[in-house]
Amino acid sequence: MIAKPQRLRPLEPTVIAVGSNLGDRGATIRAALDDLAATPGVRLDAVSPLIETAALRVEGVDEDAPRYLNGVALISTALDPHALLDELHRIEDAHGRVRVERWGDRTLDLDIVAMGGRHLADETLTLPHPRASEREFVLAPWLAVDPDATLPGLGRVDALLARLREGDAS
Ligand code: ATP
Ligand code: MG
Ligand code: MG
Repeated sequence: MIAKPQRLRPLEPTVIAVGSNLGDRGATIRAALDDLAATPGVRLDAVSPLIETAALRVEGVDEDAPRYLNGVALISTALDPHALLDELHRIEDAHGRVRVERWGDRTLDLDIVAMGGRHLADETLTLPHPRASEREFVLAPWLAVDPDATLPGLGRVDALLARLREGDAS
C-alpha cells in the first residue's frame, strides 16, 4: 500500500524557558531537555548556559528560598501551540512537578516564551509569555544563544535586557 502523502507543517522557531529550584536541578533540566528533544514534532536547536538566580515569589524576591537554575532552549516545532504546551506539561509531570501555590518551589518549569511571531491569549496559553520581558533569567540566557533575538511586539532582547538592568540599578 502506498502511504497517503502528508502535508507537513513548517517547523516554527520557538523559545522555551526552563527553570528548577528543587532536587538535582541541573540533572532534572538536562533530562527534561532530552525528553523535549525526543518529543515527536520537536527538534532541539540550542541550549543556553544555565544561570543561578534567587527565587521570585508573589511577594517579591526571596533570598531564603532554594535558588533557581534557569536557561532557555531554542527548538523548532511542527506542533501547534496547545499541543506543545501539553507536551511541556507532560515533561514537567514526569519530573515530579507539583502545583501547590503560584510561583512556589518546583522541580521543573517549562514555559513557552515565544513561538514565531504569534500573538495568542486564551484560558490556557498566552504568547509571547506575558512576563518574559520583565525576567532577566529569561532574557539573559536567550540572548546568550541568539544575539539577534526579538520578543514579538516588544523588540530586541538586548534592548529589553539593558532597560531591565537600568531599571534595577536606579
Ligand atoms: P509564570 O507563567 O509566571 O512563569 P509559572 O510558570 O509558575 O508562572 P505554571 O504553574 O507553570 O506557572 O503554569 C500555570 C499555567 O500557565 C499553565 O497551566 C498554562 O496553562 C499557563 N500558561 C499561559 N501561558 C503560558 C506560556 N506561554 N507558557 C507556559 N504556560 C503558560
Ligand atoms: Mg514560569
Ligand atoms: Mg510554567
